[in-house]
This record gives sequence, structure tokens and C-alpha cells, in this order.
Amino acid sequence: MHRRHFLHGLGALGALAWAGIGGLPRAAVAAQTASGAPADPVANPYVTPVRGGARVVVIGGGFGGATGAKYLRMLSGGTLDVTLVEPNATFISPPLSNLVLGGGLRVPDLTVPYDRLVSRHGVHWRRTRADAIDAARRQVRLADGTKLAYDRLIVSPGVALRWDAIAGMADTALRDALPAAWADAREIASLQRKLHAMPDGGVFAITIPEAPFRCPPAPYERACQAAAYLRHHKPRAKVLIFDANEDILAEATQFRDAWQTHYPGMVEYHPQFNCTEAAAAPGASGAYLARFELGEEVRADVLNVIPPMQAGAIATASGLATANGRWCEVDFLTFESRAMPGVHVLGDALQIAPQMPKSGHMANQHGKVCAAAVVAQLAGRDINAMPLYSNTCYSFVTETDAMHVASVHRYNAALRTMLPVPGTGGASAKANPDEWPLGLAWAQGIWADMLA
Ligand SMILES: Cc1cc2nc3c(=O)[nH]c(=O)nc-3n(C[C@H](O)[C@H](O)[C@H](O)COP(=O)(O)OP(=O)(O)OC[C@H]3O[C@@H](n4cnc5c(N)ncnc54)[C@H](O)[C@@H]3O)c2cc1C
Repeated sequence: MHRRHFLHGLGALGALAWAGIGGLPRAAVAAQTASGAPADPVANPYVTPVRGGARVVVIGGGFGGATGAKYLRMLSGGTLDVTLVEPNATFISPPLSNLVLGGGLRVPDLTVPYDRLVSRHGVHWRRTRADAIDAARRQVRLADGTKLAYDRLIVSPGVALRWDAIAGMADTALRDALPAAWADAREIASLQRKLHAMPDGGVFAITIPEAPFRCPPAPYERACQAAAYLRHHKPRAKVLIFDANEDILAEATQFRDAWQTHYPGMVEYHPQFNCTEAAAAPGASGAYLARFELGEEVRADVLNVIPPMQAGAIATASGLATANGRWCEVDFLTFESRAMPGVHVLGDALQIAPQMPKSGHMANQHGKVCAAAVVAQLAGRDINAMPLYSNTCYSFVTETDAMHVASVHRYNAALRTMLPVPGTGGASAKANPDEWPLGLAWAQGIWADMLA
């Protein structure tokens, strides 16, 4: 039922984009799509043409990078030469991916092509990996050995999973057997197969690393979606959550309420359990063991280890990750790296500001603010001195009920960081059926904003 509505909505994705869902009025969209000719800045105050054919390279076509690439073209009226470097054939969304586990969606429902960035917005797409950044020469080296010169570089590589923090997980065979489905949303299909193969009376265990990590509510949502499947198909099964943090990191009351109301006796939450080791259980049971910092050991039929995280490999390897060697520090007005002039970093790879989540919505906002700042810098204009970013994350806790948490963040010039705006934001009192379609619409809208 929900999937049918969702797919119907997807058909309207292109139409939504043309209606200006990307945050710009229809006139601004039209101005840059008309044969790529520079728009008239007087006629269109949102567009600033950049003279001289400046080149911007964007590494990573996820929430931050794809949005940045599209908005660079839109806000420059098609005058900037923008190249996106992204190896994946299509964008596959981590948001909504937990619904694949619950059975409400399939991976194709999370998949959006890149072709409109190229055909509609004039972004050049190199379908390969960036291997190295030479900031002195302003060049990016691609996996095939070619070099791309840039005037400005935007890096949005998402997160890398720190498997070295979990003993046993250096073994690639064990990693294949225990898909994290966190940095790569395609892995959710494999996790779903394991859930389906689990015996009734079996255990699905999920381990959560210490914050910060990608999308704080998502592990708790995943536990809900595993339980949503199990209560119908294997009602004697258990879902065990082992959290390295002191408590549930987002919407704690609402998640507890959902577990008690919908999955009584099935979902168990254990705070302050830091997973340090994983292994196959002895014998041929097909089960796994998770070991924890204080020596506890848990046996699970399906074990979903979410390890600690850091900025994507290209960011750490190129010296952009200056905060504990894990996260990238930037100027929040421009997203320019504090370590590497001319290089901007977006999304989950950032050392976040207070209470700023690592989320797709937030990375999308980074992409827009950064694109506007880069266009202004290259055109010799003033940058916006008071950017405002917003965030909404939906969590789907059953087959019918969802809830959200929202926040607004404004630049604080004295502290040179983003701070939550008092009195804004908030969360659902509890999960409810009204918010399920709102969550699906949120996803369709943001995918259109990035890629349509
Ligand atoms: C289960 C789950 C549920 C979630 N739910 C939500 C939600 O409801 N709402 C929300 O806002 N967020 C949600 N998120 C978080 C969201 O997915 C991330 O915050 C978001 O993807 C971050 O965007 P990004 O641009 O930093 O990274 P990504 O979107 O991961 O994009 C990074 C891209 O960079 C590419 N890349 C990496 N290295 C290179 C390289 N060397 N060369 C070229 N390309 C490279 C990758 O292929 C990838 O396409 C969820 C995450 C998970 C795991």
C-alpha cells in the first residue's frame, strides 16, 4: 500500500523539480536551462554569471556533492565549468534504506539516476574515483591516472567505516558476512536476506558506535524496521540493540515508546555497550559473536556491526581531516577547508558544529550554501555573512507510523560556528500514521533537489 503511493509519487519527481522544489523560483531554473546561455543577473537576482570559464571539480555525488554541483551550475547561470567525479552508476539513498529491511521498499525504490545533472544542468560527470588531491597544483588525480585542473575543489566523500576499531573485522570475508549497510546503501539488500533467513526464536543484534557518526536516529530506526518484519514472520525472535553511548541519541522517549507499544518483549535496548570485537561463532551454526569493551559476549544469528566512522578516505589521505585525524574543519560561511585553501568540504566528512547532525538534509544545505559562496568568490562578490541551514530527519518505526526531528542553525560570527536557533525545530510527540507519507515526500523532494 505505502510502496504503491511511494512509487506513484516518484513519477512526479521531475515535475516537482520543474516547479522549483529546489528552493529557487521557476524563473531561476528556467534561466540556467535555456541552452546554457548565461542568465541576465538583472532579470534574475538569484544568478551571478562568472566570467572567464572558471572550473570547479566536485568529488562525490551524494547529498552534499550532487547538490553542490547542480547549484553551482544554477547559481552561475551555466557559466561555471563543473565536473562531478563519482564512481557509482546511480545514486542510492541511505535515507529510507531501513524500509528495505522492514519490507516496505526495495533498493530500486532508493535509486535515482545521475543523468539529469548532465542533460538538464550541464554538469560533466566522470564516472570514476578521485585518488589524490594536489592542492599546490590545483589538480585532482583520477583512478585512471588523468588529472583534472580546478580553480575551486569541493570534496563530499561521506564517511569511511573504521573497521580497524573492531577486532576481527579486518578480515574481508567477515565483513562480507556482516554487512554494515551504512556507508553503502546497496548492502541493505544483503542484510535483508540475512534477516529473512534467520530462524524464528533467533537474535538480530545491532551495535552502535560512539557519536559522532552518520545519522544519529538511523540505528534505532533500523531496529524498529527489523522488528516490524520479525513480528509478522518470526514472532519469537529478539532484536537486541547495543549502544556505546549513554543513551539513545535522538528522540529517546519516542523510540522507547515505539518499542514498548509495537514490539513489547521483542526489542531490548542496552546502553554503554561498546562493541570491540566480532567473530563467527564456533561450530557450523552460522551465528556470530559480538564482544564488548567490558568483556561481555553476545551470540546473534544476524549481527549488524556499525563501526566508528571518519571522513571518507580521500579527505583523510589528502590531509583535510584536521580534527583528530578523522573529520574536516571548515569555515561555515564558505565550507572552505581550514587546512587547504581553495578546497571546500561538505556533508558527513565535516567536524560538525554544536548539535548539527551528520545527515543528508544537512549535507544538502551545505551544498547550497557552498555553491552560493563559491559562485560569489569566483565572481568577486560578497558572500552571505549570515547563512541559515535547516534539517529534518524522519524515522519510520512501523509499517505505518513515522516521526521526525527538526532543527534550524544560524551562523554565529563571534564563535565562527553554526548554532541552533532558539525556539525553532522540535520533534514529533510520538510516531504516528500522518507522518509516514510526509517522510516519503521529504525523500522524494530532496532527491529531486539534488538530482532532477
Ligand atoms: C540507514 C541510514 C538512514 C539515514 N536516514 C537519513 C534521513 O532520514 N535523513 C537524512 O537527512 N539523512 C539520513 N541518513 C544520513 C545520510 O545518508 C548522510 O548524512 C548523507 O548521505 C551524507 O551526504 P554526503 O554527501 O556527506 O555523503 P554521501 O551521500 O555518502 O555521498 C558521498 C559520495 O562520495 C562518493 N565518493 C567517496 N569517495 C570518493 C572518491 N574518492 N572519488 C569519487 N567519489 C567518491 C561516494 O561514492 C558517494 O556517492 C541516513 C543514513 C543511513 C546510513
